[in-house]
Amino acid sequence: MGTLEMIILIGAFVIFSLIAGLLFAIQQLQKSQESLKKIMKSFERLDEQAKLIVKTDLELNKAQEELDKRLNGLDALQKTSRRITTTLDENEIFQRLDQSLMMNLGFEKNLILIQDKYARLQPRINIGFYEKDIAVIISHIQKNEELLKNLQEGQTFSSGNISHQRKEFINQLFNADYFILSPILTKNGLIGIIFVGNSAYSSSLTEGDEEIISILANQIGQAIENARLFEEAFRASQILETKVKERTQQLAKALEDVQNISKSKSSFISAVSHELRTPLTSIKGYASILMTGKLGDVPEEVKKRLEKINMHSDNLVQFINNLLDISRIESGRVEMNMTKCNLSIMIESVHDLLTPQLKEKNIEWQAHIDPRIPEMLLDQHQVERIFINLVSNAIKFTPQGGTISINAQMNNNAVTIEVSDTGIGIPEKDLTRLFEEFYRVENEINQNVKGTGLGLSLVRKIVQAHKGKIWVTSQVNKGTTFHFTLPIQQ
Ligand code: ADP
Repeated sequence: MGTLEMIILIGAFVIFSLIAGLLFAIQQLQKSQESLKKIMKSFERLDEQAKLIVKTDLELNKAQEELDKRLNGLDALQKTSRRITTTLDENEIFQRLDQSLMMNLGFEKNLILIQDKYARLQPRINIGFYEKDIAVIISHIQKNEELLKNLQEGQTFSSGNISHQRKEFINQLFNADYFILSPILTKNGLIGIIFVGNSAYSSSLTEGDEEIISILANQIGQAIENARLFEEAFRASQILETKVKERTQQLAKALEDVQNISKSKSSFISAVSHELRTPLTSIKGYASILMTGKLGDVPEEVKKRLEKINMHSDNLVQFINNLLDISRIESGRVEMNMTKCNLSIMIESVHDLLTPQLKEKNIEWQAHIDPRIPEMLLDQHQVERIFINLVSNAIKFTPQGGTISINAQMNNNAVTIEVSDTGIGIPEKDLTRLFEEFYRVENEINQNVKGTGLGLSLVRKIVQAHKGKIWVTSQVNKGTTFHFTLPIQQ
């Protein structure tokens, strides 16, 4: 092989090697381009993921912010409700709902309008409104019957859940883009509204804001209702107190008048009785002298008349003595002459005294005296008068063959005595007036038998002078029981 051929061969080899190298290089280049593309894609994906991460981060931040706002709102709500539900003063409620608490709810504008006693809305909390704007707001709300009706029904409006038209209305009226308007209700219906709002530049509504504001509105409503109820009850009790005071004063005055009248009555009775007693004694005296015949013979007919004069004078003296005793005991001029007495013996002596009358009407006598009753400090003469009066009445108003029983029982520190009969009884309407002076029941016996109506009055005075009580129970045609107490220790 010649040199030329050698050169050509080498040249061909070189060219071939170069081409092969070039091809290889091209191949490598293609490979790296693909890798590059892959890298580019990865970059793109990474970029997308980075963007996603940023977006998620932003969203998370926003969610966190909303959560914080909600937590603040809930915290403010809890504090607010605790503060407003622990007072019963309406003004105090709004003092406690102070600005800082309201601001914590996370709104730049707050307005609470509450009806006054003339049903006019008045601002009670105002954050972010001019007074002149509030006047406009109130007048527009009061004119908007539809809105008032919906509020009355308990509807809460928020910028997120409202018709376009109404949104416009509230937007413009309150000058807020995001808002909640909630009714404040009590049992009697709508008494006010609460408004919170933000402008477009500050934060929008967060989920749950509407709930928080309507809960707050509810609590304000309840707190006001409680305060008003309390105020009403308090006022009523004050009116009652004044009335009770007035009534007490009137009663005290009436009592004083009655006491004065009673005093004058007593002194009048006492004076008249004294005046009557002196001439009566003379009449009786002269009648007695005439009857003795010392002043000349007295014909039988005249004697009979003189005896009648004597008898009637005795009755009159008895009547006047009773009258005098009542007024004396009442005015305390007769002191009870307390001595140790045996009740059982006293009752027996009264029985002895009245046995003739009992026999005359064939009335059975029963006495049940508690043997435990000790000797008692009593005015013997006066207590005997009680028994004589009660038993005489019982005999008078009990028909033939009836029964009269006396019962005396120990009762703590007193003895309760009952004088019962099986007589005509006393109608219920007369029972309360029975112990009044001169009071007599209208019945057949009283029409035929004279009486003064002073006996029971005297009996009551004597019982009271012994610090006891007296009352009566009765059933018409069945019988009557007089009950009275006499304290054992005096
Ligand atoms: P007087 O016996 O003089 O009428 P009293 O004061 O003793 O006056 O009694 C007042 C009235 O009470 C009597 O008139 C009588 O109507 C009624 N009364 C009293 N005791 C009895 C009795 N035991 N049963 C029925 N009525 C009685």
